[in-house]
Amino acid sequence: APSVLLETISSNDGASTTSTRIAATATAPATVPPESRSQERRLMHRSLTESPYEVISASGSYLHLSTGALILDGCGGAAVAIIGHGNEEVMAATVAQMQKVSYVHTLSYTTSSAEDLANFILEVSPGGFQHGLEKAYFCGSGSEANDAALKLARQYFYEKGEPQRKFFVSRAQSYHGNSVASMSVSSNLPRKVPYQDILMRNVSFVSPAYAYQYQRSGETEQEYVARLIAELDAEFQRIGPENVISFIAEPVVGATSGCVAAPKGYFAGVRKLCDKYGILLHLDEIMCGMGRTGTYFAFEQENVLPDIVTIGKGLGGGYAPVAAVLMSSKIVDTLRAGSAAFNHGQTYQAHPVTCATALAVQKIVRRESLVQRCALMGMLLSKLLMDTFSGCKFVGDIRGRGLFWAIEFVRDKTTKETFSTSCHFGYNFQQNAFKLGLAVYPGAGTVDGVRGDHVIIAPPFTTSVVDLGKMVALLKEAYVQEETRLD
Ligand code: PLP
Repeated sequence: APSVLLETISSNDGASTTSTRIAATATAPATVPPESRSQERRLMHRSLTESPYEVISASGSYLHLSTGALILDGCGGAAVAIIGHGNEEVMAATVAQMQKVSYVHTLSYTTSSAEDLANFILEVSPGGFQHGLEKAYFCGSGSEANDAALKLARQYFYEKGEPQRKFFVSRAQSYHGNSVASMSVSSNLPRKVPYQDILMRNVSFVSPAYAYQYQRSGETEQEYVARLIAELDAEFQRIGPENVISFIAEPVVGATSGCVAAPKGYFAGVRKLCDKYGILLHLDEIMCGMGRTGTYFAFEQENVLPDIVTIGKGLGGGYAPVAAVLMSSKIVDTLRAGSAAFNHGQTYQAHPVTCATALAVQKIVRRESLVQRCALMGMLLSKLLMDTFSGCKFVGDIRGRGLFWAIEFVRDKTTKETFSTSCHFGYNFQQNAFKLGLAVYPGAGTVDGVRGDHVIIAPPFTTSVVDLGKMVALLKEAYVQEETRLD
């Protein structure tokens, strides 16, 4: 596990009362002897000391490693592989597009695959056009999509005659990407080290909507929501609401806290407040969108319509690196009446092959009613998780929607005291599961972005009932190993 050093600084980038930052400590030796250098892999991985497993083939819900191990994919990478691995229909569509047009620059050209994907997402898919989303911008990753969305929101106000709007408000314990701009609006503290000093300064953070950890005892859900909305309002007032561009939030928070949906009424309250001040609502559905929570968009369960939505992961289902910014008519109309252009663009935007691949994935999702299947299988997964883990000593919370579930681990269920950061409960749990043949997604920092552990289970929507049962049985085994280690 990565070793970290906590240092106290003054920062508004954390839970409201927290002022901590994490600095990575060097775990690798300063120099590597020449003989081991020659054996080193040349690909730059996140860790310079640990080598990842090589996957030699993947099909359905399983990964085959070069070690001979067969791994049940319980997290689809990072909630990416929505239709599982090795789908031949997707492969055929990819090859067919390569044979037709492999690349053109979007400044002068378009292709039917890119146009069809935009139409599909906005008009044909169950969650598209009826939400007032009018156009789609395609790029290669969630971080790029969020960067493009931040620029789009700024350009909207610039052309609207409100150039003084320069501030973004986001939430603590959020993750929106790794590029400089998307990281600036993120509050995943470990990932921001050592970049804090070069990130955008026109961003502030309010508390996450995270009842398990932050709803006070004796406080009703309604009171908790009112407190969060009041805090957001106060933050808008502090900046001057006429200076704020957008509020950015994940409807169901993924990596930083583990499948945390907001309390009932929170997003409706946020929408109302944004409308009051003309602030744009940007919902980041890169992890929780594209059916993952049992509806096409997670915001459909919140009864709100965002101005901007960013999607990624499930859009290409892992078959192609693709993400998108979906924007409302209001934004498109303003740009149309202004410069008549989105002042942004990238070499590989709306890449024809990428779009054809994503379209093939999405057609399968629709034809096989996989979003509905995700909702149904999600009910089964939640029941299995509740039945298996509710009574466990170190399991504090089990939460999620659709096939997007997390288990939060605490040292003490009554006080919700977390494990010490050096304990690495979530990481060890994930390692145990992996050794047993199950891949799950670990997470730390559920409390104040620093302490606390969780694990995410986000299997493909195509996972069989048998494999889902197997997954939960292996999770239990992994948990028991870690509980025994600590006893
Ligand atoms: N936004 C959210 C909610 C995410 O979960 C992620 C990735 O985990 C991103 C943005 C960044 O996406 P990418 O890693 O494709 O750049």
